[in-house]
Amino acid sequence: MPVVRTFLSGGDVVLPDRVASGLTLVLEGDRIVDLTSGPRELSSHETRVDVTGQLVVPGFVDVHVHGVQGVDVLEGPAAVAAVARRLPRFGVTAFCPTSTACSPETLETFLEAVATARATPEPGAARVLPAHLESNFINPAYGGAQPVEWIGVDVLPLILDRCADVGILTMAPEMPGGMERLRAAVGAGIRVSLGHSGATYDQALEAIGAGARHATHLFNRMSPMSHRDPGLVGAVLSSDQVAVEIIGDGHHVHPAVVRVAIAAKGHSQVMAITDGTAGSGLPAGACARLGGHTITVGDVAQLPDGTLAGSVVTMDRVFAMLVAQAGQSLVEAAHLCATTPARELGLTGQGVLAAGSLADLAVLTQDLRVVQTWVGGRTSLPEQS
Ligand SMILES: [Zn+2]
Repeated sequence: MPVVRTFLSGGDVVLPDRVASGLTLVLEGDRIVDLTSGPRELSSHETRVDVTGQLVVPGFVDVHVHGVQGVDVLEGPAAVAAVARRLPRFGVTAFCPTSTACSPETLETFLEAVATARATPEPGAARVLPAHLESNFINPAYGGAQPVEWIGVDVLPLILDRCADVGILTMAPEMPGGMERLRAAVGAGIRVSLGHSGATYDQALEAIGAGARHATHLFNRMSPMSHRDPGLVGAVLSSDQVAVEIIGDGHHVHPAVVRVAIAAKGHSQVMAITDGTAGSGLPAGACARLGGHTITVGDVAQLPDGTLAGSVVTMDRVFAMLVAQAGQSLVEAAHLCATTPARELGLTGQGVLAAGSLADLAVLTQDLRVVQTWVGGRTSLPEQS
């Protein structure tokens, strides 16, 4: 059998350490097998895709996604796959479907949907990673738009039973039984994230000491930092054991503060996220659902009472915000949107454009609009919405 290869040529390729102009990526099967400069004659089994004048970036890895374009991942057995189908329109090639606090039945259905979507990936859809549970174990005083009726309901046995489908567990360690739950989750190999939490600095350090390695949407819904009282924000900013998510819509966290956080943590410990809801990718004024509530799309998603309820941003716009408003280079933004989340989740061969990596990438215009997204060497053009 002849080897079938695709040559993605002529683009400005965002490598881990520089942007290389006019480089050709050679794709074979689901991998990038070579990066080469200079044209060459193609055989009959080889095709060239000309991306001259465009940017090629590693596909975005979003570890915090509730939904997109009208679909919420908690809305039944087909919802996770439906979100996976839509996300490549925004340059996303892998994501953690993310729950809110919910009933045990809803959680069970959700985790089953995650398992099914992972076992039966659809060609061209974003890769479904183990779930992020923005869970029943949060502090209701920092709950935001979370449905309070399910906070505290003990779903830990279910989570431990399904731990292969759970990647990240957001929790507040200061809640009654919080540290015991944290240790049990860490012991089961789940990545514990501190968030929706009023933990003091000392409580946060205890949680980090017990194995917490992640912080959920830094600054939003957590005890703030002041110079005499570092709080949870100060604990995770000053710990080199914890990587932090930052919502990159330019509204949940001011771009200047995004820049400060990156300066404190370094690009290797900051993961840009959308915290996207079913309202993401919908026009202003549209309505969608989150955690059983109706949300309205504006600059952010809001409950009827005005409570901030996740974002409406998509990952391509997060990448653009980092470059245009938070002073990040293309290389740095690629680390924040792809390389760091992939590495933190232990995804080998993802999040970078390199020989041997999975052919998960996005082609962008120079003004950072998605032209094509490739997942495992297959491309899909974004559909107009
Ligand atoms: Zn969220």
